[in-house]
Amino acid sequence: REIALSTTDLRVFYNGTKEAIHGVSMSFPKNKITALIGPSGSGKSTYLRALNRMNDTIDGARVTGEITYEGVNINDPKVNVYEVRKQIGMVFQRPNPFPKSIYENIAFIHRREGIKEKKKLDEIVEKALKQAALWDQVKDNLNGSALAMSGGQAQRLCIARALSVKPDILLMDEPASALDPISTMQIEETMSDLKKDYTIIIVTHNMAQASRASDYTAFYYSGDLIEYDETSKIFTQP
Ligand code: ADP
Ligand code: ADP
Repeated sequence: REIALSTTDLRVFYNGTKEAIHGVSMSFPKNKITALIGPSGSGKSTYLRALNRMNDTIDGARVTGEITYEGVNINDPKVNVYEVRKQIGMVFQRPNPFPKSIYENIAFIHRREGIKEKKKLDEIVEKALKQAALWDQVKDNLNGSALAMSGGQAQRLCIARALSVKPDILLMDEPASALDPISTMQIEETMSDLKKDYTIIIVTHNMAQASRASDYTAFYYSGDLIEYDETSKIFTQP
């Protein structure tokens, strides 16, 4: 089985000393959804944020051990974290659309990267919105404000924005926990459609969601990975 990303003896230290992740080694299979579960404070989010270097560059943590992507240890100060984040994208717990139009939420990143042609930007926006299963609802309202969207639609827009950069891997930190049950189901369906093209790693405290929506489940407890297997095996009744 092909591996998209792996860590070897990954440790995360906050405030210089507090070790929040105690040497986790695990591999994420390509084109699968892996759920990270465990009680609040067990380190799921910390581990997830280490994977695209948010922990050390944004949260001020110290991270040791290896994060291997495409044969390279990306936990290295010489690695360009902006390039890492183009390959390993992130969707956050709370939808965080920019205070711009729906269209501009996606187009502006690409214009900043040098794509000026309107037709090309239109294509990027349409493709991303289709992948996030949002196109049909918003195609007649692309100039509407993203801030006027419902929570579920705003989260899909954030997924579309992340996908528009064409990452390999999508990290999702409790992507549905701020949403109503119907939007939650829709996000789960979208994830399942996306896995033919992406590897997805999702943090959730919702066991039912992990059991419904993931292929593999990793159980964290107190900063340790204590179980990792196919989801169907983890949730089998004894
Ligand atoms: P969750 O459990 O849903 O991930 P938390 O409430 O634990 O959310 O954390 C919310 C934010 O606060 C995160 O950005 C996290 O990094 C930060 N945080 C959590 N615990 C601490 C702490 N002990 N000291 C400083 N920041 C923290
Ligand atoms: P989970 O996602 O499983 O709820 P977290 O990764 O948010 O767990 O937190 C793991 C541990 O690290 C907790 O003890 C939390 O308080 C601590 N922590 C998280 N973020 C920070 C931070 N930014 N600064 C200091 N401590 C933090």
